[in-house]
Amino acid sequence: MIKMCKKCKTNAVFVMINGRKLCKNCFIHYFEKKILFTIRKYNLLRKGNKIFIDKGRYTTIIEHIFRKLPIYKISKIKTKTDKILLSTSIGNIACQIILNQLKKKQEVKQLMPKYKNTIKPLYLLLDKEIELYAKLNKIKINKQKDKDKLGVQVRNFLNDLEKKHPEIKYAAVNAFLEIEPVL
Ligand SMILES: [Zn+2]
Repeated sequence: MIKMCKKCKTNAVFVMINGRKLCKNCFIHYFEKKILFTIRKYNLLRKGNKIFIDKGRYTTIIEHIFRKLPIYKISKIKTKTDKILLSTSIGNIACQIILNQLKKKQEVKQLMPKYKNTIKPLYLLLDKEIELYAKLNKIKINKQKDKDKLGVQVRNFLNDLEKKHPEIKYAAVNAFLEIEPVL
């Protein structure tokens, strides 16, 4: 199979769910655009907002992205900010949705793109996309061990399903977002 970016005719580094192949530059552009799209779609931030990047798996990536967006001011003090940015990916959300069915763990509203003063700018990105972005930009990810045994099992289950059904995590989260407003 030839793996070439259709636009640039160079080697592809990523294949999207719809089959589109992206080279390094196109992938980075797609990734950053998706974050801006998420911010707009879910009204996560306003111009001039003071933000705090919470410590999590993808802190370094969020810092990298938001340093390029000077319309938001990064603060080092959590209490003196408008919004707290979390490391949550679409994989985390899909996993939490299933876990919530198995054992009530948290309020469903916490799984929304924004909850109180916390927001999730990586809400529509898969872990493999975030990890690839980190690799291409030479950013180190904070490796964290998951202590929740059931959580690990659900994540592995979803990752297995994803091999045959690449859209599975989007489907789970979309179904959740559609029903959430009536809950
Ligand atoms: Zn390209």
